[in-house]
Amino acid sequence: MALIPINIKDGSFKQEDVIVGIDLGTTNSLIAIIDSNTKKPKILKANFDDILVPSIIYLGKNKQTIVGNKAKKHLIEEPQNTIFSVKRLMGKSYKDVVENITTKSYKIIDDNNDSLVKIEVEGRYYTPVELSSYILKELKNIAETELNNKISKAVITVPAYFNDAQRQATRDAGKLAGLDVLRIINEPTAASLAYGIGIEQNQNQTVAVYDLGGGTFDISILKINEGIFEVLSTNGDTNLGGDDFDHEIVKYWIENFFDNQNLKINNFDMQKLRIEAENAKKYLSEHENFSIDISINSRITKLELSLIKLEELIKPIVDKTIKSCFNAMNDAGLKNSDIDEVIMVGGSTRVKLVKNEIKKFFEKKELHDKLNPDETVALGAAIEADILAGNRKDILLLDVTPLSLGIETMGGLMDVIIPRNAKIPQSIAKQYTTSKDGQSNLRISIFQGERDNVSFNRKLGEFNLTGIPAMPAGLPKIEISFMLDADGILKVKAKELRSSVEQKIEVKPQYGLTDEELEKMLLDSLLHAGEDVKYRSLTEAQTEAEQLIYTTLRFIEKNKNELSNDEIEQTNNFVEQLKNSIKSESKDEILKAHDILNDFTKPFAERLMDKAIAFAIKGKKID
Ligand code: ADP
Ligand code: MG
Repeated sequence: MALIPINIKDGSFKQEDVIVGIDLGTTNSLIAIIDSNTKKPKILKANFDDILVPSIIYLGKNKQTIVGNKAKKHLIEEPQNTIFSVKRLMGKSYKDVVENITTKSYKIIDDNNDSLVKIEVEGRYYTPVELSSYILKELKNIAETELNNKISKAVITVPAYFNDAQRQATRDAGKLAGLDVLRIINEPTAASLAYGIGIEQNQNQTVAVYDLGGGTFDISILKINEGIFEVLSTNGDTNLGGDDFDHEIVKYWIENFFDNQNLKINNFDMQKLRIEAENAKKYLSEHENFSIDISINSRITKLELSLIKLEELIKPIVDKTIKSCFNAMNDAGLKNSDIDEVIMVGGSTRVKLVKNEIKKFFEKKELHDKLNPDETVALGAAIEADILAGNRKDILLLDVTPLSLGIETMGGLMDVIIPRNAKIPQSIAKQYTTSKDGQSNLRISIFQGERDNVSFNRKLGEFNLTGIPAMPAGLPKIEISFMLDADGILKVKAKELRSSVEQKIEVKPQYGLTDEELEKMLLDSLLHAGEDVKYRSLTEAQTEAEQLIYTTLRFIEKNKNELSNDEIEQTNNFVEQLKNSIKSESKDEILKAHDILNDFTKPFAERLMDKAIAFAIKGKKID
C-alpha cells in the first residue's frame, strides 16, 4: 500500500518521491526500495516465484517485446530474436566484442569497426542502450505495479570496471526507460552497503567484495572508516562469470558424450545444451552427481557431470579470479591478513569451489554470504537511493579512477591531471601556455593511460580553445580543469585566464576499453617504465630546444638593430648547432647545445629584457 500525500492548498496529489535501486545485471536484473514500514531494503517482484528478472529480451515479429522469464523460453525456439548478455555490449564497438561473438546466437552488425555495436533482429537495428532500456522499463513496471505509484528516479549499479562510455550508456538506457538516473554506483560498493558494513559510525574495517555473476567479475577492496566508504582498489574482468562455467561444461559434453567427432550442432540444440549445462552447475552446488537424457540432432544422449569433474573444468576460471584478487590487494598495498571481512556477491558464488578458493586466498574461516547473493547488489542500490533521498546523511561514498587522465603536451607527452587511483568525485586544474606567438587556437587532446607517450594511451576526445587574444608565446595562462563526477564521467574545461575565453566538453568516448586492454595498459606502463623515462626526458629536451630556437630567432629578428653583427652571427651558429643536436636523439648533446646557446644569449637577452622570453621559459606548452 502506498501513501499518497495530498497538497492541502491546491488539492493536488503529491506523489511520494520514491527512488528505486536497480541492479542491471548481465544475467539477471532486480529492482529494490527501502520498505517504508520496516526501513529495510527489499526486492520488488512481479509475482512470488520470479524474484529475478532474467536480462533477456525477446523481439517478436509484430514489434512486441517481451522481457524476463517469458523471453527466456524463446532462447531455444528463436535464438536470433532473443537477446541475452546485452550488458557486455554496452558502450562497445564491434571491434571490442568481435572475439566473443561466437558465443552469441543473435546477429551483431559489423558495418563499421569503430562505431558502437548494433544488433539486427528481423531487419531492424537495435542498440544495446535501447535493449537495456527494455529491461529497465520492465523493472519500472514491476515496481509501479507493486507500489501503485509512479517511479521516475533511480540509482543503477554497474561493474567497478565500467568506463565512461559504459556508464554513460547505462545512464542513457535509464533515460530512455523514463528514469532520471540520480547516480551510477559500483556494484561492489552497493554490496558492502547491503551488508550494513560501515553504517555504524565508529566501525573501521577493510573489506574485500568478491562479485562473480553470470557475465562479470569484480573484486574491490574497500576501506570503511567512520561511515566513509573508500574504494582502495578494484580489479576484475567484465567478460568472466558463470556463463563461462556453462561454456566449459558444454564443451566437455560435446567432446566426451557424442560419438561423431565432426558432429554439427545447430543453434537450437546449442542453446538446449547451454541451458542444461547451467542446470547441471546449479544442481552441483548442492549435490555430487548430475545426469540427464537430452535429444540432440534428434538422438537421445545421456549427459553426465560429477562435482569433481565440474571443479576440474572450472578451476582455471576460478584461478583467474584469484589472480585478480591478488592484483587488487597489490594495488591497495595490503597483505591478505589486513582484510577484515570478505563479502560474496553474485549467483556464481554459490559454487563450492569458488567459496573454498576465496576462503583459502583471504585466509578466512567465514565469508559474508548470508544474504541471497543474487539480491545483494540491488539491496545496496536501494540503500544508496535512500542516502540520496536524504534519509541517511551520515554516509558518504568515495570511489577511485582506474587509469590516469591527462592531456597531450608538446612533443606528444602525456601530462597527467587526475592520477590513477585518485578518489572520485575529483576536480583538478593545471595551468598551461602557448608555444607560438599570436597563437589564437589551442587543441586540447584528452588521454587516459599510464604511458608517457600519448600514442600508447587511449584518446578520450579533443576540442579547440579558440579566440585566444593575440599574445606572445608563453604569455597566455590557460587553465585546464578536469572534473570527474561520482559516476566516473569526465568534464574538461579550458579557460584562458587573462581574457576569460573558455571552452568545455563532456567526454563521451566512442567505445570502451575491454578489461584485457585496461590490464594491458597498466602492465605496459610497468614494463616500459625505464623506456618511458628516457623517452620523456629526450622529448622534453627536444621540445625545450625547439622552443629556445623559436624564441631566440624571434628575439634576434625583433631586436636586430640593438645587436652587433658578431652577436647575431654567433647566435645563428649556436642555433644551427642546437638544431643538429635535436636530430642526434641524444639528450646530453641537446642539453649541451641548449646551454651553450642559452648562456651566450642570456646577457643580451637580459639587456633587452623581453617579457615574452621570460614567460616562455616557464610552464608546459601545448602545441
Ligand atoms: P549477473 O550479475 O551477471 O547478472 P547474477 O549475480 O545474477 O549475475 O548470477 C548469475 C549467475 O549465477 C549465472 O551464471 C547462474 O548460472 C549462476 N548461479 C545461480 N544460481 C547458482 C547456483 N545455485 N549454483 C551455481 N551457480 C549459480
Ligand atoms: Mg551481478
